[in-house]
Amino acid sequence: MYTIYQALFVQSTSGQLAEMGGAVSVHKHEVQKFPQYHILGGDEKFHELKGEDERVELHKVQDPYLQYGGRYCDDPKNTSSFHYVEYDELPNFTSQHKSIMSKVLTPDLFRQLQNIKSSKGYTLSNAILTGVVTPHLGVGATAGDEECWELFKDLYYPIIREWHGYDPTSQLQPIDLEPSKLRFTDENRKLFNEFVVSTRIRAARNISGYSLPAGTTDEDRAGVEKVLKDAFNGLDGELQGTYYELGSLSAEQTAFLQERGFLFQIPSSRNLLTGAGAARSWPNNRGIFHNDAQTALAWVNEEDHCRIISMELGGDITSVFARFCKLSNALKESAEKNGTKLMWNEKLGFLGTCPSNLGTGLRASVMVRLPAFNKLMESENHEDKQLLEEVCAAYDLQPRGSAGEHSAAVGAKFDVSNKQRLGLSEVQLVQKMIDGVSKVITYEKLLSEGTPPADLRKKLEADMSKRAL
Ligand code: ADP
Ligand code: MG
Repeated sequence: MYTIYQALFVQSTSGQLAEMGGAVSVHKHEVQKFPQYHILGGDEKFHELKGEDERVELHKVQDPYLQYGGRYCDDPKNTSSFHYVEYDELPNFTSQHKSIMSKVLTPDLFRQLQNIKSSKGYTLSNAILTGVVTPHLGVGATAGDEECWELFKDLYYPIIREWHGYDPTSQLQPIDLEPSKLRFTDENRKLFNEFVVSTRIRAARNISGYSLPAGTTDEDRAGVEKVLKDAFNGLDGELQGTYYELGSLSAEQTAFLQERGFLFQIPSSRNLLTGAGAARSWPNNRGIFHNDAQTALAWVNEEDHCRIISMELGGDITSVFARFCKLSNALKESAEKNGTKLMWNEKLGFLGTCPSNLGTGLRASVMVRLPAFNKLMESENHEDKQLLEEVCAAYDLQPRGSAGEHSAAVGAKFDVSNKQRLGLSEVQLVQKMIDGVSKVITYEKLLSEGTPPADLRKKLEADMSKRAL
């Protein structure tokens, strides 16, 4: 997966080679001695050289896992294709690093937490790895087990405050899984029916006593799968269904499930899961459960032990939320009947891998068609490009592409969801999503009718100041 970074100067038969801005120049016949270097201009360039003594320029292969500091360490969680990195000092954060973690982690905080290790073996270096090697991430920190949330709270709490606007030192997390409390007016319904392609509510649920995916072992990962399989077997009525192991799915089945947005993405080399070590031993003990109607689903051992999902075509959020609540309660009861419990505490609510998914762990999203906003994104004007982000942020919403986080919006379809997970209850978050998305759709209509982006921005400001009163 990666190549080990080599010494700056390389000894050759012809003596010490000059280092030229990350490049070395060697005789053609020496090239095979430097497997960790790329030939500038590629193999083609190499074959163009006729004489053995002609020189070719080689460029060092940068190891993305070490380019911001650290060294590979002898971590028991290492696998043959993934090695954890240990930092002896604060990593070299660059202007590419967008995460809150990279802002929160000062040299002092680094030193304070540097030698702390959870009883399951999770360290500060483990917790920040994905944020260091994947600079574009917004949060940039993970937890490897339940204990981490207390041990590394001086890192996580400031991240939580900034991301959710919630202070775990003074607030308590409410729970409310009562679908009848949602307010979905005829006006909301009309807008949703016209613009929303599908609706989905998911939440993270993790089993107490087992390491989280970023810090887990093969045994714990298998243990989690067993607990969840037993829980799925206990589901009945509308929720009754089948569990499929990821490794046993055919390529066609996988494609079928992915196309419908039922299945998680395969971790790429540049995402949170891979950088955190949560994609180790893929696809072992990962899987998907769904009921016969494919409207109640659960993912096993992706970013969290379990993601419970309720989804259907169209914009009927009340029906999707009612099914979500049923699934959440059934899973809790089933797990408890089997002698296990979910990770939860009153300050942080449901606990999981990423600080962005605590509390309710709930993300309520609509796949919504926004062609006018999409057109602006293709414009040259930087401000116009940002308009959808801005409108969403004003209502605490987060836009994503049509195939999940960090994907593109194919056919102008965006996944728009609540950004917060903490401080508000499940009912309150879904309500905010309904109200916010209705606004986004109203703005989409205005744009498509010819309202200039600048006027829309003014409208947004006016609406914001009205709300602030
Ligand atoms: P999460 O981690 O919150 O589950 P991702 O961004 O990883 O979300 O997306 C998971 C999958 O769910 C993706 O394939 C995405 O397209 C799909 N998805 C998300 N929201 C919806 C929706 N409202 N309707 C249909 N598919 C959706
Ligand atoms: Mg995800």
